Amino acid sequence: LKAARLHNGTTPRKLTIEEIDQPELGANEVLIKNRAAGVCHTDLHFMEGLIPLCSDAITLGHEIAGEVIEIGNEVTSVKIGDRVIVNNCVPCNTCPQCLEGRDNLCDNLVQLGFNTDGGYAQYVKVRADSALSLPSSVPFEEGAALTCGVAACYHALMDIGHLTSKDAILINGMGGLGFSALQIAKNSGAAITIVVDVVQEKLDKAVNEFNADHAINGLRDDVRKQVGEITNGKGVDLVLELVGIKETMSYSVDVLSKTGRVVFVGYSKADFTINPLSLILKEAKVLSSVAYRKANLVAVRDLAARKKIRPLIAGVYDLDQVNEALELLKKGQIIGRPIIKF
Ligand SMILES: [Zn+2]
Ligand SMILES: [Zn+2]
Repeated sequence: LKAARLHNGTTPRKLTIEEIDQPELGANEVLIKNRAAGVCHTDLHFMEGLIPLCSDAITLGHEIAGEVIEIGNEVTSVKIGDRVIVNNCVPCNTCPQCLEGRDNLCDNLVQLGFNTDGGYAQYVKVRADSALSLPSSVPFEEGAALTCGVAACYHALMDIGHLTSKDAILINGMGGLGFSALQIAKNSGAAITIVVDVVQEKLDKAVNEFNADHAINGLRDDVRKQVGEITNGKGVDLVLELVGIKETMSYSVDVLSKTGRVVFVGYSKADFTINPLSLILKEAKVLSSVAYRKANLVAVRDLAARKKIRPLIAGVYDLDQVNEALELLKKGQIIGRPIIKF
C-alpha cells in the first residue's frame, strides 16, 4: 500500500511516498480504507525535529476518516462498510490517568501518526474502539478535521479553560484550530469573541462568515490597547494561545482580566518568560492543553452532525502532493485545514 513516510535524520525533511506492506489485523482491530486525512502543524513539528521521532521511520497523519473494510474476529462495535473517524490517541484504559478519564494523558499512549503508523496511507489499522461512526451528513474531509483540531479546541476550551457564557475570549491565531475554536466559543454563548491574526483575510473571514465579534490585526494594531477598549479596561477572561511565539505570548497574559486564564495549545521554539508579579496581581492562571479525550471527539462529532460546527477545509490534495500541502501550511497563507483525499 502507498504511504507518505518520514525518516529520521534526513534534512531537509520531506515525506517520501513509498510502498509498504499491508498491516496484519489483530482480533480487536479494524482496517480502514482512508478517504480523507487532515494535514496538521504537528506534522511540521516532526519534520523540523521539534518533536523527536521514536522510530527510524513512520507514516505520519493523525486526522483520519474512512471506511471500515476488514474487521478482526472479536470486533462487534463497527462493521464492514461503516463510515468512521479515528480517535488517534489510543489509550490503555487501565493506567491511573485513564481511570481518571484523562485518556489523552495515558501513561501508555499509542498515537497514530506520532508513535505508530498513521493516516497518510491508503489503509490504516486501528483498535476497534478508536473507530467512531461518522454520520453520512458529515463529509469525510470534515470528519478528518474533527479528529485533531476541532476536538483539541473543545478540550482546551471546555475541559481546561472552563469556558462559560459569561466569558470574553480572545483566540490567538486563526489557523484551522482558530476557526474551530471560534465556532465552539460561539456555540457556548461566549459573551465576547475576539480573534487575533496577522493575515487580514483570515480576520475578515472570521468576522463575516463565523461571526467573531471583534478582530485585531496583530501586525497593525496594538493588541493590549484594543482589548482594553473592547472590554472597558477589564480584559478578557480567557485567552486561547494557538501560536506560542514571543510576540503573542507577551500580550497573552497582559490582556487577561482578574482571575483570567490563558490556555496554551500552540508552541514554537520560543520560551515563555514572565515575571510572576504580572500573574499574581490579578490571580491569573496559566494553563495548557494537549490533544483531546475520546469524549471530546464524540462531542464535536455530534456537534458536526447537528451542523453546529463545520471544520473549515482549505483545499484538497492527493497523497503525492502531501509535501506541497505541508509547505502551504507552513507558510500560513491558507485558511483552514488542508486535506489529503484518497
Ligand atoms: Zn493534528
Ligand atoms: Zn492509560
